[in-house]
Amino acid sequence: MALTVVGSIAFDAVKTPFGERERMLGGAAVHFSLAASFFTEVRPVGPVGDDFGTEQFELLEARGIATSDVERVPGGQSFFWRGHYDFDLNVAHTDDTQLGVFGEFEPKLSDAAQAADTLFLANIQPDLQRQVRAQCGAAGFSGLDSMNLWIEIAKDSLLAAIAEVDCLVVNDAEIRMLTGESNLARAARAVMEMGPRAVVAKRGEYGAALFTEAGPDGGEQSFFALPGFPLEDVRDPTGAGDSFAGGFFGYLDGTGGDLDEANLRRAMGYGTVLASFNVEEFGTERVSRLQREEIDERFEALRRMTQFEALPASRG
Ligand code: AMP
Repeated sequence: MALTVVGSIAFDAVKTPFGERERMLGGAAVHFSLAASFFTEVRPVGPVGDDFGTEQFELLEARGIATSDVERVPGGQSFFWRGHYDFDLNVAHTDDTQLGVFGEFEPKLSDAAQAADTLFLANIQPDLQRQVRAQCGAAGFSGLDSMNLWIEIAKDSLLAAIAEVDCLVVNDAEIRMLTGESNLARAARAVMEMGPRAVVAKRGEYGAALFTEAGPDGGEQSFFALPGFPLEDVRDPTGAGDSFAGGFFGYLDGTGGDLDEANLRRAMGYGTVLASFNVEEFGTERVSRLQREEIDERFEALRRMTQFEALPASRG
């Protein structure tokens, strides 16, 4: 199986109460690809400027990520995001966004990128997400992430993009903003009425919730949620949501696109685990040297911590 992702490929300047970086590798498609690379063949699509050098390509390639659809634009500047977090790390504050080469980008995917079984439209201008969606007709499962900026300045395009995917993965605040519904269950239902058959609401350190619609095969509508993995040291939440999505979609693609409820729940577990590693250090620092065994160990710990038993009948 193979997975294509479009989304920002960026340099980030980030300040949190626990440190700062003036310029580090970032971008939604980068965080997503690193997380997904533990499970499947992943191919990020998007432009970078000549400021994106060998060091950045090597970091991706060291994880087996296929970089031939990352297009280097001579004389161009890579996407740049500057943000900060206050004491409450759940809320990112954007100080600057420079689209750079994404401003002129017209996606022309390679045959390999178009043939992907799974497609993820990570955070970027929704018209670009739609252009990529249109070129990946073979994908049996597709997902989309977005953010408040695009809800504010490109809502109609974003609604059209959402209607074309199977699964929406956004922050709980963004689902509320998108639908005008304050109740999360109602907001998720409103999204499913737009087209997607599954919705993942990311809730920062509180974890993530999965809503699925009743399937045509009679499968039931269902709800599942996991807490964030409890960590005592969190330094930089940037990219947590993308790492979650990379773990979730990467695992599903790597297991042959099996979308039954049990596998979707396991995917929620892998998403949670990848996001938890991501936030332990700045940017891509932790995930770029992560080992598969560490993932499996934390997945097992999360599974143990989230199961509970009914009272034995004799004591009922
Ligand atoms: P996350 O923390 O998972 O929501 O995503 C953080 C990443 O999103 C950063 O690495 C940024 O480069 C990227 N980003 C920030 N703003 C935007 C935007 N408007 N469009 C696309 N990507 C963005």
